[in-house]
Amino acid sequence: MANDNQYLETLYPSWGQQFVMDKVLFEVNTGHQHLVIFDNAQWGTVMALDGVIQTTEKDEFVYHEMMVHVPMLSHGEAKKVLIIGGGDGGILREVLKHPSVQTVTQVEIDQQVIDMCIKYLPNHSAGAYNNPKANIVIADGVDFVNECTEKFDVIISDSTDPMGPGEVLFTSRFYQGIKNCLEDDGVFVAQNGVSFMQTSEVTTTFKRLSPLFTEASFYCGAVPTYVGGIMTFAWATDNLALKNVSLETIEARFEAANISTRFYTPAVHKGSFALPHYVMEAIK
Ligand code: SAM
Repeated sequence: MANDNQYLETLYPSWGQQFVMDKVLFEVNTGHQHLVIFDNAQWGTVMALDGVIQTTEKDEFVYHEMMVHVPMLSHGEAKKVLIIGGGDGGILREVLKHPSVQTVTQVEIDQQVIDMCIKYLPNHSAGAYNNPKANIVIADGVDFVNECTEKFDVIISDSTDPMGPGEVLFTSRFYQGIKNCLEDDGVFVAQNGVSFMQTSEVTTTFKRLSPLFTEASFYCGAVPTYVGGIMTFAWATDNLALKNVSLETIEARFEAANISTRFYTPAVHKGSFALPHYVMEAIK
């Protein structure tokens, strides 16, 4: 955690990344989690929750583009989108770039994360929280999806790691709730950790999603400040066509949407479903 001007990530007990905190902009125990936002010469403004790096100005685009454009361009005509978590606003910003989107509901447990990220990381949400298509709900995501009567075309769980308030977002109860509020031809994606370091979480998610969806799998992307190798994103759907949409179709949809990206490309999209052997072994 934070001491002197060093921030030591505590996600792993015997190894982790360390940041020089050139300036601490905000630090509080919100009642849900410990929140700190600080400036770092390498990564710009950085936000961490409960000892885990959540997002940085410099590399946030990698994660937010892969979490949003892979499911959205696989689906192709998502009108209603649900985001769980995502308090920094990066997912919301990217979802709203898609012309097909009519409404985005975001369910975030911690209002202070939203407020402080708007203040200290304004480019993450980039005004998205004021978009009339955005419906922000302050609630626990597991309760929302189990009580929700609406259906969504794409659901994105941009949660913290399975600890603290985020733990419930990796349970069968949460995934059952997702199943309840996902359209039959829709797709659910979720951040599922760095697979080399959190392999058991990949296995556990696969075991919990498989009984509920025709297809439970993963795709991946390398996010620099999620240290330890490629990050795996959970993928769950009853619509087997989505993962197999052709490169040409993805390219046509990407061009038609006229979205500018810095990491995502249609070729990266298709390639992201190619998983390393150790991940394939983990989800046998
Ligand atoms: N990109 C980060 C990652 O991959 O670790 C996640 C970023 S985002 C800041 C994580 C968000 O999940 C936070 O805003 C946190 O407040 C929210 N969150 C944690 N548990 C939650 C829950 N049970 N319901 C809704 N939001 C939750």
